[in-house]
Amino acid sequence: MHTARRNTPADRAAAAAPPPPLPPWGPSERTRLAAALRDDDGARGPWDLVVVGAGITGAGIARDAALRGLRVLVLEASDLAFGTSSRSSRLIHGGVRYLEQGEVGLVYEALRERTRLYKTASHLVSPADFLFPAYAGDRLPLWKLRVGLALYDALSLYQSRHRTVDPAGARAREPLLADDGLRGAVIYEDAVTDDARLTLTTLQSARRYGAEILTYARVEGLGRDDAGLWVRLAGGTLVRAHKVVVAAGPWTSERLLGETGKHLLALSKGIHLVMRARDVPVRQPLVVQVRGTKRIVFVVPWGSRTYLGTTDSAYEGDPGASGVDEADYAELFPLIRRVLPSAPLERGRVVSAWSGVRPLVRSGPPKPGSSTVNISRRHRLVENADGVVALVGGKLTTYRAMAKEAVDHVAKALRAADPERTIPRCTTHRLPLVPGAPLTAEELRDDPLLADLAPRHGPEARVLAERAQAHPELAGRLVDDLPYRWVEVDQAIRFEGTWHLDDILRRRLPLALTDARHGAGVARRIAERLVDARGGSGRDVDAEIDRYRDLLRRETGYDLNDAAG
Ligand SMILES: Cc1cc2nc3c(=O)[nH]c(=O)nc-3n(C[C@H](O)[C@H](O)[C@H](O)COP(=O)(O)OP(=O)(O)OC[C@H]3O[C@@H](n4cnc5c(N)ncnc54)[C@H](O)[C@@H]3O)c2cc1C
Repeated sequence: MHTARRNTPADRAAAAAPPPPLPPWGPSERTRLAAALRDDDGARGPWDLVVVGAGITGAGIARDAALRGLRVLVLEASDLAFGTSSRSSRLIHGGVRYLEQGEVGLVYEALRERTRLYKTASHLVSPADFLFPAYAGDRLPLWKLRVGLALYDALSLYQSRHRTVDPAGARAREPLLADDGLRGAVIYEDAVTDDARLTLTTLQSARRYGAEILTYARVEGLGRDDAGLWVRLAGGTLVRAHKVVVAAGPWTSERLLGETGKHLLALSKGIHLVMRARDVPVRQPLVVQVRGTKRIVFVVPWGSRTYLGTTDSAYEGDPGASGVDEADYAELFPLIRRVLPSAPLERGRVVSAWSGVRPLVRSGPPKPGSSTVNISRRHRLVENADGVVALVGGKLTTYRAMAKEAVDHVAKALRAADPERTIPRCTTHRLPLVPGAPLTAEELRDDPLLADLAPRHGPEARVLAERAQAHPELAGRLVDDLPYRWVEVDQAIRFEGTWHLDDILRRRLPLALTDARHGAGVARRIAERLVDARGGSGRDVDAEIDRYRDLLRRETGYDLNDAAG
């Protein structure tokens, strides 16, 4: 931990210098930080900012604040991206659906952020042509889609432009589409990402600039006394801060914020089902209209898999315990079958699934039984009487802009408390998440190892590829038909803040979601490496596998030993 300091010209010069290297983030770093916090006698002064929650919202805040020279500590109850940020539809999009709700400002902001992410996270945000068909009897006929997408183009400042195709053109692009009643389709651009990886990469950038992140550290209490703001962790560790921002997603509640947190959020569950690409061989992301409600669902190609989703139903209870159930299958399959009648949409062909809970900002007191579909996806920044700030709602897509708003607010408060202090402006709109020259087409063409690693690691893939070349046992794939390599397990353990087996199998690499056996074939070997790095025993390996099995069963409805084929 460091002492509080002012932002000096030397700091600013340092900020303009080449980015610092990725610091190690293994089990020993975690143990050291936990001990430093526990044993802190207060001599080093309070943190500038404590962020509660390491989802995409907390990650964005930590990165922005660290880049501005603030001393930042992130406290996360579970693993990073454990919550909604590893359970989304994985789209970086303006949200065509929100136009129908008149949310023009939100769409504009999201499209602007999409453009920024193309530049700052190009390896993680891949543009794709989305095909949005219209059928006879649909709520949105083709002409309305064209009007809506013309507005979408304008809101993107014509960074992307839609086009319209007739029924034959639509089927030429997507032969699986039902013919009956097809009126045509619009094709427009949005992007696909890896939500958990975007969160991790944002946090790693924050660490490069000095932020400290402690996972598996639940905040149990927050408040103010004569000495300022305090944050109490499970186990009793007390941390002091000039400012605290709660970014606990669907967990943001009265418990953390007092009266300000009461009725702040409405929770809504959304699930996704993963199938083999050969069962649902769509050529591009498809948008499917849901009749009788202002909803759409997506069918998204994902390498050797295709995922389908999502649902939107009011949720109560622990946001970490939501899971996919029979009612979800019964809802989703018929919606998609109407448009893709030849695809074998059967439960037995589903490889995996995931379930997330949206933290939606309420506009009024709760109304029992009301739908969550029409609740705005806007975010809100609130502050309670103790000066604890919370940032809730919003989208994965808009996380950077949300974070800027929160950190501007924090900077203002810090300057008010110390008028001599200068805090630089936000730079996250232009600084890439991973420094280094993007991989070239030639590099990717000539090196299959790099080609496998690049979509998750960007320029850092070169470092991993070099390591795998020096240690050939790290070069192999974990599972034949998926691009994940053993060097990524090594990276996850040494540089990506993993502590439990599920951190690796669910969030560093999406094996729990993409592998037909959910990683069963490699789980023990990975657990052994992890436990070895943590300094544990064979019994710990068994405990990790049991823990992973339980979490997998709860979220996806699958057992680790299920072999889907
Ligand atoms: C089904 C679904 C589909 C979606 N699709 C998209 C999409 O395609 N595109 C898009 O832009 N957005 C999408 N979203 C929205 C987006 O995923 C969320 O807005 C975003 O992930 C919320 O992130 P967050 O960091 O606020 O919350 P979370 O990711 O839930 O993070 C909160 C974190 O706080 C931690 N925490 C909780 N309590 C405590 C505590 N007491 N102490 C310490 N830590 C704590 C949790 O463990 C968690 O890691 C989707 C959401 C859902 C549910």
